[in-house]
Amino acid sequence: MRVCFDTQGGGTANPNEDWVAGSPTLAIVLDGLSTAGLSTGCRHGVPWYVANLGGHLLAALADLDRPLTEGLADALDRVAATHPECDLSDPGTPSATVAILRHKHGVLEHLVLADSPIVLDGPEGYTVISDLRVDDVLPELRAEVESHQTHTSGHREALQRLVLAQRQVRNTPEGYWVAASRPEAAQHALTGTTPLRGIRSAAVMSDGVSRLVTEYGMATWSDVFATLQTGGPSELIETVRKTEATDPTGIRWPRYKSGDDATVAYCQW
Ligand SMILES: [Zn+2]
Repeated sequence: MRVCFDTQGGGTANPNEDWVAGSPTLAIVLDGLSTAGLSTGCRHGVPWYVANLGGHLLAALADLDRPLTEGLADALDRVAATHPECDLSDPGTPSATVAILRHKHGVLEHLVLADSPIVLDGPEGYTVISDLRVDDVLPELRAEVESHQTHTSGHREALQRLVLAQRQVRNTPEGYWVAASRPEAAQHALTGTTPLRGIRSAAVMSDGVSRLVTEYGMATWSDVFATLQTGGPSELIETVRKTEATDPTGIRWPRYKSGDDATVAYCQW
């Protein structure tokens, strides 16, 4: 498997909270969840969390016989053990989506936890693998955020109300599951396998990239893979930014930020 990737922060005001890595057998994308400026109980921050979780995932999944869920649970345990001085029971503890694609003996294994999708370019078209459970919770608060233009106090306050409410249902049976401080979240990830035969390429993305298709409707998956093939991950992210620049305050496409952190790992065989 050949993996090339790029990741770019959504703006200059905040650090990039996405993380990406590739190896001959693995492509991993993590998308740290926004804290909306609220407390987290952790002095390290989201960029530290995703970098450490990602590093432990690479190590845990180097053994191809180890199931992806088991490797994720182990990596979550190890990150938690790295900062015991922080309050890991805080509902705002750093957390992230997880998307993993692993090539193992002619088979592609996948794991997704929350809304960073994997798209396979195969003989029967494009297969989108995504965990959209987060979209089913708190629809009224989400709609309230989207009723405001970005960069307004109304937007900022609505986003804080949404994030506070999300924290109450995150990693509970009533809500949705993300990687945070406890290993049991791994058991709630969506997993599966696909024979590699006939798969031409794959893209593992944060939603900051996939929204070009799913939210903005400004490209098809066919367009996305054509851009990846000709210009690579950087050009795809540039396309997302150019699209967002036509709607800087989120009137046409209501959203949480003018530009979200954007990451894509492009895998070829
Ligand atoms: Zn910490």
